[in-house]
Amino acid sequence: MNFNIKFIVKLLLFVCLIYWFIVLLANHLLSQLLLNSEDVDIDDDIWTQQMIQNEYKITFIINEFEWFENDLTATLDSLCGLSTINTILVISQRVIYPPIEWPINGHAVNNCDIKFIVNDFQFNKSLSESRVETYIESPYVMIVPDSVRIGSRHQVWSSIKYLNKLNSRQQRTALVLPISSDDFVDNRCLLINFDIKRWTLQYRQMDSMSSCDAFIGNNYAVLIKKTDLLELNQPFNRPFVESFFIQCKVRDIKVNLFSSNVVTKGRQLFLTNERNQWKHKMWSEERRKQLFALIGVKKLIDSQGVVQWFGCGKHTQRCFPTVINEMPDYLFSNRWTPVCCLDNLAQTGRHVFQVLESYSVRYWLEGGSLLGAARDGHIIPWDYDIDIGIYREDIVKCPFFPQSDPIVDSKGFVWEKASEGDFYRVHFSQSNRLHVDVFPFYSRNGTMTKNTWFDSHPQDCEFPEHYLLPLEKLSFIGFNASVPNNWRQFLEFKFGPNVIETPKYPKPDLLKPFL
Ligand code: ZN
Repeated sequence: MNFNIKFIVKLLLFVCLIYWFIVLLANHLLSQLLLNSEDVDIDDDIWTQQMIQNEYKITFIINEFEWFENDLTATLDSLCGLSTINTILVISQRVIYPPIEWPINGHAVNNCDIKFIVNDFQFNKSLSESRVETYIESPYVMIVPDSVRIGSRHQVWSSIKYLNKLNSRQQRTALVLPISSDDFVDNRCLLINFDIKRWTLQYRQMDSMSSCDAFIGNNYAVLIKKTDLLELNQPFNRPFVESFFIQCKVRDIKVNLFSSNVVTKGRQLFLTNERNQWKHKMWSEERRKQLFALIGVKKLIDSQGVVQWFGCGKHTQRCFPTVINEMPDYLFSNRWTPVCCLDNLAQTGRHVFQVLESYSVRYWLEGGSLLGAARDGHIIPWDYDIDIGIYREDIVKCPFFPQSDPIVDSKGFVWEKASEGDFYRVHFSQSNRLHVDVFPFYSRNGTMTKNTWFDSHPQDCEFPEHYLLPLEKLSFIGFNASVPNNWRQFLEFKFGPNVIETPKYPKPDLLKPFL
């Protein structure tokens, strides 16, 4: 009897052990299957659904749509059809008008958690209530444009699985989901080079799809972990896709194309109404300009090598305000002179050299401009004007140096007498005040001197005339410009030793609190 009981207890224990082992093994195999498979096939049994629903919660965000024509109602309807636990956020700059049709058809409103977030002043909303991140409670976010459909939650889960897989084996990654349509391009890989200091964004098309920073076109949805999305400073800017690619590149978040028809195209918009088509085009261009103004892109080189400018020109103001303490504002955002300003300044410089040479006015590069010429033949990348000296007695040779009122020459450059002292300024245009400063010097017993001095510039000092006898030539901004002879010694005489090799900001201490 005793023996039997002992035997039964042992048998029971053994059976329990085997059962426990089998359950453990099954769990392990199932989790492997879920995390490693790239396929869309997830078993639709209740256990799987519950597990995935809890772990794979997702928030959908729509922020790319037009007010005057959209497909929001049907798009929301499609997203609401996926599940009862997803949150959907619709973000707009102002209250959507005309209002979208509501309640939506097909799916009951109370099965769907939709919130409209308006990034505009509203008395009845607190600060946190008007911020998007307040409403993102899920670990994953999918940002979709207007007029899309999502077939099944399984497809969404499979893309989350794939995202997890990528994130587990490489650096932070977002998934880019092409919205399937007829105009599919095979080779759409782009590299981004954003030289932030020089305000220049360049796209380059790549043959391989192995490592891309962006993809051609804008017809994509994006799936990203919430924590990665909130790494971006302004993730919901428009045009969303381009803004997202650029910000991911800067923040070192990889983007990976996931070509499975998770998101498909809904109704074709702007097809029948020409006026709406035109409005959409205009607004898209305007939003892109605003994005580039915000993130500081003045020069864009597209994947075909075509240059587009978004900075200043003859008919606009220059990009930076009056310079105080020799430290222009862009240095305080850790950037250098906007590339458009450098380009326009160089044009002004070449124009002035040409005019002075045509009237046999003896001139030479001074200060930072001579320093730039000596370094690499260019304007120092954070400099904001060009300085030259001329012989005072040569002023009368050139008809553009005005006695009183400014003179606008035939190419639109403005020659004026500076109000700050005994020197001249040549501006790029009447609107754009980028300028060349022209300082008249005269010889007094073999020493070059002038009437106006800048106490804040230690390099602004008298110098022996022999540096100008004779003048030499040095390449500067693509022009063979006049410079003092022995220019290296001349620069060290004015600025101190090793100045060419060790360029410095004029007053670097002022930057300390900001960087
Ligand atoms: Zn500019």
